[in-house]
This record gives sequence, C-alpha cells and structure tokens, in this order.
Amino acid sequence: MLCLLKVLLLLSAVAQAQSFDKLKLSIPLPEFKINSGFGNRTHPVTRSMNVFHAGIDLYARSDTVFAILPGKVIKVSCDLITGNYIIIAHGAYSSVYGHLSNSFVSVGDLVASGTSIAISGHTGRVTGEHLHFGIKHKRRFIDPLRMLYLFGKLNGYELYLFLNDLVEFEKDSCPGD
Ligand SMILES: [Zn+2]
Repeated sequence: MLCLLKVLLLLSAVAQAQSFDKLKLSIPLPEFKINSGFGNRTHPVTRSMNVFHAGIDLYARSDTVFAILPGKVIKVSCDLITGNYIIIAHGAYSSVYGHLSNSFVSVGDLVASGTSIAISGHTGRVTGEHLHFGIKHKRRFIDPLRMLYLFGKLNGYELYLFLNDLVEFEKDSCPGD
C-alpha cells in the first residue's frame, strides 16, 4: 500500500514537472534583430526628442509572430500609432505585438508558448515594416530585452512563480551588515 502511494506521488510529481515544462520562453519572431530599443529616443517619424518608446522594434518582413509564453489573449485591436495589435496576459505580465498585418487570434483565446498569433506588417505610424514588441508588468511597461533574458534563464517552475509575482528577485542592494 505504502509502495503504491509512493508510486502515485512520484507520478503526480512527474506530471507536475511536465506541466511546467511547457512553460518556457519562445522568441516572438523566427529571427531576433533589434531596430530600436526601449526607453527615451528621438522619434523616427515625428523627429521629436526624448519620446518614451514603450517597447523594442524588431526587424520583420511578413514574418510569423509567435506568443512568447503561454497565456490568454486579452486584446486584439487597432489604433493610429500601434496599428493592428495583440496583447496576451501571462499572470502579472503581458506581452504586446504591434504593426501587424494579420492576426490569427481572438480575445479569450488561450495560446501556448510559440503559438503563431499573427503576421508582421506596417500598420499604424511607422517608417517601415517591423514588429513593435512590449512587455508590461501590471500597468507599467518594462524593458522587454531584460525580461526576455530573465525569462529565458528560468526553468518552468521558477517562471510560473515569477510570472505570478510569487517571488521577487533581490535588488542589487546591501541587505545590511
Ligand atoms: Zn516600437
């Protein structure tokens, strides 16, 4: 009986580990080439200085766009700036994909990491085709490159904890003497 219990526990641990296996980062395009970074910049269209860029711009040419993590599509919309865009929620974080020509998902869809969600394009205010890619933590835009680097380093279980704000990483400050 005890032995059976042990086997069952082992099986459930394996099943749990496998479910976290699917929680891994995928890059948003087949090729990752940055045209423009996150933060203040001179705007490429208006030429205004010190305009906050809420994401990064990635080189794209009618490429398939992939969901970076498993999540739920919370917005499929269009505006004059970002053009056609998609927002996917992943726990406390969300990812934004803009200037799309075509989207394959609808609000409420559940996607896996690497699911094809759209085709890149040049809708909205652009000088040329690219993918605008952003990451938000709750309501605040954060540096997507830093987050992609971090997400890529975590295993499935660590990523699950992190995305749901169940752990916070230590800041580089002295904890005291
Ligand atoms: Zn952009």
